[in-house]
Amino acid sequence: MSFQALGLPPLLVKGVRAVGYTDPTPIQLRAIPLILDGHDVVGAAQTGSGKTAAFVLPILAGLLDRPRALRALILVPTRELAAQVETNARDYARFTKLNVGVVFGGVAIGPQERMLRVEGVDLLVATPGRLLDLHGRQSVAFEDIECLVLDEADRMVDMGFAPDLMRILRMLPDERQTLMFSATMPPALNKVADYALVDPVRIDLAPPSRPAAGITQAVYPVPRHLKTDLLHRILSGGPIGSMICFTRTKHGADRLGRQLLKRGHAAAALHGNRTQSQREKALRDLKRGRVTVLVATDIASRGIDVDDITHVVNFDVPHSPEDYVHRIGRTGRMNATGDAFTFMAPEEKKDMAAIERFLGVALPRVQLPDFDYTRRTDPGAAEDREPRRERERGHGGSRGHSSDRSSGGPGGSGRPSLAPGAASPVEHGRRPKPGRGRKRM
Ligand code: AMP
Repeated sequence: MSFQALGLPPLLVKGVRAVGYTDPTPIQLRAIPLILDGHDVVGAAQTGSGKTAAFVLPILAGLLDRPRALRALILVPTRELAAQVETNARDYARFTKLNVGVVFGGVAIGPQERMLRVEGVDLLVATPGRLLDLHGRQSVAFEDIECLVLDEADRMVDMGFAPDLMRILRMLPDERQTLMFSATMPPALNKVADYALVDPVRIDLAPPSRPAAGITQAVYPVPRHLKTDLLHRILSGGPIGSMICFTRTKHGADRLGRQLLKRGHAAAALHGNRTQSQREKALRDLKRGRVTVLVATDIASRGIDVDDITHVVNFDVPHSPEDYVHRIGRTGRMNATGDAFTFMAPEEKKDMAAIERFLGVALPRVQLPDFDYTRRTDPGAAEDREPRRERERGHGGSRGHSSDRSSGGPGGSGRPSLAPGAASPVEHGRRPKPGRGRKRM
């Protein structure tokens, strides 16, 4: 079935064709007619399924040909996702007169106020905190809102946004359509959902316990202090198009990014402590192939929309099975194939077992043939711990370029050190709570 046959107006069908979509995805086939009909919808759609277009297109259709006012609001957990949803919405709306805007924290509020007050928008994509700030400054009004979307709602609740969501909900007109997309249903979201939605239709196409079919998963049992070396060996051993490597902490992401650079790999780190422009640059570099490995935390990974990720590496086993599924969903998008490797230290076996129970499969254990798993030290650790001044002089001659894989990179010949290169398990900043006790939708 074509986009036109789903009931979308020609101007939007033209926009969708211009971005290169020919056929609707399954979630789009299900959701678009329901949303056009005015239903409240709860969708449990897998990342990469095309869910953004599934709600943005019918919303834009409802906004066409009516006086300009802020009538549709899309709330998302992170600035990356906000920017991505806005870009998609602008693309789809390019042949219409509709204005699409985005607001999120971490950047100056002034230009966002000007955009809302002077230019005006029909559809606004926002993170909850910044939206409330703008409302408090009377820069945005909610009385014309006809449609609200809570995208990645479980993640918003995980990140502590439930009170902000409730505050926003209380200010919106009762007469409105509400759409909620969420992979899981944590208890705190129940309350928000009960308040927000009226008699919703449920769409549950690809439950998060089923990663996309094209993803090959494997577990690498490895002592924690040898994980960086194992990653270095994998990166040196064969063609890696682009990789996202997940760590549990921001500190761990920074540290691993530095270690990889030092060993000659084109790496960058993406996490919440980075400025917006640093985060955008890291994503741009990955998309353009300037960076091969993006080291990211779970929260930062939300909204990473890069189609050709060939490898996902869980450098640390994620705390919750849902995080595992979200992480590996970064590869194998839109029916492509990809590899998802999980590095499992002995102390992480329990978390890995919980993930396998959740998935309902036992994942294969893999060992790299000539890798010495019994070493007591990481050969690269001495380099990783060199004095700061040395580091700043710039050891890694290949920084910012793809690695010299044939030589195995500088790390492989590093002298052994007594200092283990273990990543610190200390948590910095907010992270989602383990998903225990969650009810799947
Ligand atoms: P999402 O799940 O919304 O993050 O979308 C995942 C990716 O699929 C994005 O890169 C979209 O641009 C792309 N996409 C969405 N719908 C379609 C479609 N019908 N045909 C091809 N690509 C699509």
